[in-house]
Amino acid sequence: MTGSPSRPPRWVDFHCHLDLYKDHAALIAECDHEQVATLAVTTTPKAWLRNRELAARSDHVRVALGLHPQLVAERESELPLLEHFLPNARYVGEIGLDAGPRFYRSFPAQERVFARILRACAEQGGKVLTVHSVRAVGKILGHIERELPPERSRVVLHWFTGTAAEARRAVAFGCYFSVNGEMLRSPKHRQLVGGLPADRLLTETDGPFVEFDGRPMRPRDVRQTVADLALLRGVSTEDMGHTILANLRTILTEARG
Ligand code: MN
Repeated sequence: MTGSPSRPPRWVDFHCHLDLYKDHAALIAECDHEQVATLAVTTTPKAWLRNRELAARSDHVRVALGLHPQLVAERESELPLLEHFLPNARYVGEIGLDAGPRFYRSFPAQERVFARILRACAEQGGKVLTVHSVRAVGKILGHIERELPPERSRVVLHWFTGTAAEARRAVAFGCYFSVNGEMLRSPKHRQLVGGLPADRLLTETDGPFVEFDGRPMRPRDVRQTVADLALLRGVSTEDMGHTILANLRTILTEARG
């Protein structure tokens, strides 16, 4: 996503689980062919190395180092491994908090892990984070405000479902939002996304967890989300696409540490 790709990106998928598709390697080639700047998130630090190896020669795919909050109950012991890789990772995710009924029991452990990762990112600087915040937006923002000064890294809130007041709080602290097709199917979330500042918007698929045409969404399908977002916000698809690409460039410039 950074550097000088032979062809510039045309689309942005800032949160996709490429390693959960059967055709992981083919998907990377597809991202390059279709010029989709794609952030491949991982759910455990062990997955990061293999993802990096596969994407090593890709112009458009970058890999994020993650420890998914839904896996913290079983995988908290992998936190030292994440910390070991972190100095070599510019992108961090999927990380965050999940207070949904299935994961609430591990919430104290999730908070420990999340705070430790934020603190390490603040020390090292220059990171770009993609953050999960299911039923925990207030807690997420509290941790970020305490641990990660905006000038030390950039935070992208993935699949944000907080209130308008929480969105304003996140904007005030420099956060961005990556919007997916499923969010735009919910009237409540459409209204929220419609009110976000244009200069804080990115797109994502969260594939394979979000479907499109009855199949898991692929990074190249993100153009549909750009078109939907443009319609919602009353701008042309072309302008929406340019805004999102400009926002990605801004994030990567700002997050130089
Ligand atoms: Mn995800």
